[in-house]
Amino acid sequence: MQRRESGQRRKLRVLNAYGGPCCTCCGETCLTMLAIDHVNNNGAEHRNEINGGLGRNKSVEMYCWLEENNFPEGFQVLCYNCNISKHRNGGKCGHQLDEGPTTMAKASSLQAIGKRSTGRPKRAKI
Ligand SMILES: [Zn+2]
Ligand SMILES: [Zn+2]
Repeated sequence: MQRRESGQRRKLRVLNAYGGPCCTCCGETCLTMLAIDHVNNNGAEHRNEINGGLGRNKSVEMYCWLEENNFPEGFQVLCYNCNISKHRNGGKCGHQLDEGPTTMAKASSLQAIGKRSTGRPKRAKI
């Protein structure tokens, strides 16, 4: 009886095919943090297509599919942080957004709001 190949090894092989086990965006190398990301943001639709609603471990199916299809283009290695950030920011990870001083301005204005509200405490109605 042949032992079933571990999903982790397949994952590593797939990641290696897409530039190595390293986040394309931030360089994260922790294997459990890494995943294959659809460059064009159609991940959910595509995964449904592959699975056909089988309800099995989706990420494992995904690596299987990629390997069977000779690692098609349009995918990249991203860590979960960058993945989530990318989807939240409409296709661009927060690391890629050139916020620069805007971030500081936002932070300080938030602080200002905080100070203002504490400086003017609401009186409880009697
Ligand atoms: Zn990352
Ligand atoms: Zn990132």
